[in-house]
Amino acid sequence: RCHRARVLRRADTLASMSDTLFERIINREVPADIVHETETTIAFRDINPRATTHVLVVPKTRYRNVAELAAADPGLLADVVNTAAKVAELEGVAEAGYRLTFNTGEDAGQTVFHVHGHLLGGSSLGPEAR
Ligand code: C5P
Repeated sequence: RCHRARVLRRADTLASMSDTLFERIINREVPADIVHETETTIAFRDINPRATTHVLVVPKTRYRNVAELAAADPGLLADVVNTAAKVAELEGVAEAGYRLTFNTGEDAGQTVFHVHGHLLGGSSLGPEAR
């Protein structure tokens, strides 16, 4: 039992240490179509766009989800929102409007556990959950 606990603890440590895809993009180890970057955030096009404009806005420091980010570093969450607003301007959707969503957990379809906002715009998005 003691051994099993140790193995589980080690797996947990490795999981928290290992990079997600987004750390690799931040470190330029994986290419991405970067549209904007600040000292604390990076924004790049989603590889599988679900709107005319679909950009992911990511804090460079990793938190699993937006609630953990808000609890640990509200200023960094504000940086993410401000970067999204800047990207909306650069993409020409600020006037018409856009959606900024943070999928959180399995039921929301979160697949990358490094918090990211989906900036969606470029046409009327409708009120449906997506
Ligand atoms: O919120 P969720 O975790 O599902 O979002 C992950 C997003 O990352 C997906 O929209 C997916 O298309 C995107 N992605 C990407 N580049 C990759 C792999 C995934 O933009 N290489």
